Amino acid sequence: MDDQALLTKKGHTTMTPDAFISTIKELPETLEAKDVGSNILAPLFSYLITEPSKYHEGCELLQNKLLDLTIKTAVEHTSYYSKVVPHLEIWDKTRLNEIPTLNKQTLYQNQSGILSKVTTFGFVTFTTGTTKQAPLLIERSQEEQLYLQNFFSILQSGMSQSNMLKPLGIVEGSMNHGSVLRLPGIGYNFMIELTKDYGVIRTAWLLQNGFNFNGIAPKVSQLNTTVMGLSYLHQYLTENNIEIPEDQLNSITVFGWPVPKSRRQKFEDYFNVKISDNYSMSEMFGGAKYCHKCDGYHFDPFVIPELIDLETGEPLQEGTGELVLTPLFPFTQRFVLLRYRTGDLVDAFRVNCDKGMMVYKIRGRLKRCVKMNKDLYFGEAEIAKAIDEIEELNRASTGFTIFADNDKNNWPLFKMVKNGAQFEILVELKFDPQDNQMKSKEISKSIYEKLLLELPQSVTHWIQQHPDDFKITLKPPHSFDKRDYWNL
Ligand SMILES: [Zn+2]
Repeated sequence: MDDQALLTKKGHTTMTPDAFISTIKELPETLEAKDVGSNILAPLFSYLITEPSKYHEGCELLQNKLLDLTIKTAVEHTSYYSKVVPHLEIWDKTRLNEIPTLNKQTLYQNQSGILSKVTTFGFVTFTTGTTKQAPLLIERSQEEQLYLQNFFSILQSGMSQSNMLKPLGIVEGSMNHGSVLRLPGIGYNFMIELTKDYGVIRTAWLLQNGFNFNGIAPKVSQLNTTVMGLSYLHQYLTENNIEIPEDQLNSITVFGWPVPKSRRQKFEDYFNVKISDNYSMSEMFGGAKYCHKCDGYHFDPFVIPELIDLETGEPLQEGTGELVLTPLFPFTQRFVLLRYRTGDLVDAFRVNCDKGMMVYKIRGRLKRCVKMNKDLYFGEAEIAKAIDEIEELNRASTGFTIFADNDKNNWPLFKMVKNGAQFEILVELKFDPQDNQMKSKEISKSIYEKLLLELPQSVTHWIQQHPDDFKITLKPPHSFDKRDYWNL
């Protein structure tokens, strides 16, 4: 079947899972770079993106073929993988664990060794550093840019009518890393920044005005920001009584950090649109999308996720572990990552959902989690999300001058401590807990209830079974040192 026939078929919805599998089987047994042009993959991926579970079996076949190509290309064109990857006639997911995982430290040491020699430099993006580590620079190639542009323009031509105006969007740039590449070829985007007063004011202005670009919608209908960026924008708009017309926005996508449920609800009520929450990282193209039904994330077909045991590093089918990702060729070409350890603690389960067979719950950076025993971890991010809604918790100033309430949007200040078998969470209040013991007691109770409501069952079960080992301690303001919120 040729590509045009596939796209036409898509229009007439005659594709079936069996026909899809046959189409994948018609591809060469072993794929080469010439076999995976955007004109070949875009029509196939249009099914995998819109109805992932329906075409799951075919997707597995296609991913295995692309994985084989990804690994062989890595071995052939990079100095690092040519040394560490064993020889195998044909690779598939079941053999993937024969390749050593790549952690961030090894990546820092082999930055040039993982670059594909047959690609042409296009641009460089980065991951933010930490106090101990410099930012990591991530090179992207012209080949990838071109590929993704073509891929998405073919994908869209099959999905929408060509005479429609293309969307006008707002994309947060300053914390945005590689997202220019992540969203290629879709309409026209204003690059904005929401970490400074002027950026928030400019963005509010863009949302209130009309524009006249040829072939592009006259009003901003898409927002793509960080969770914090959206929080600042929302605060500015509400504090200034600015109302966004009900039908203005078609989509809001947030990235960089999972959005707490309470904030999600507030944003969705105000902007009158569902928030799409993405798990993604600058290191690669593709990530995972939040699913309202599963309250977790399903991965894009462009990457292969794995779960590994936190102690042994062995692959796990389900449960709690570290997330390991392999982005697939040709979507990722220059900065080659095979079995990249994300450093994120996740719970993964099989589910019955039309958006994916597996759901991943992102619990926090492993480095900032507290390990109580082999099977019990407290994730810092999941705790921050759970207690975020409690207003009496102290937060650091955001540094803005345009807000009436200047520390409203930062994450609550808290610390997790392990003392032997005991787990203690110390939480800063906006007042000294000694000054109002009655109120403090109520706050302790709401922290406890929120944690029981939102933390994974492995954790809540332990909390309930070990009341003497779980402690919440309230602290007066300024009890903790400064800390880095972006690394939660
Ligand atoms: Zn789901």
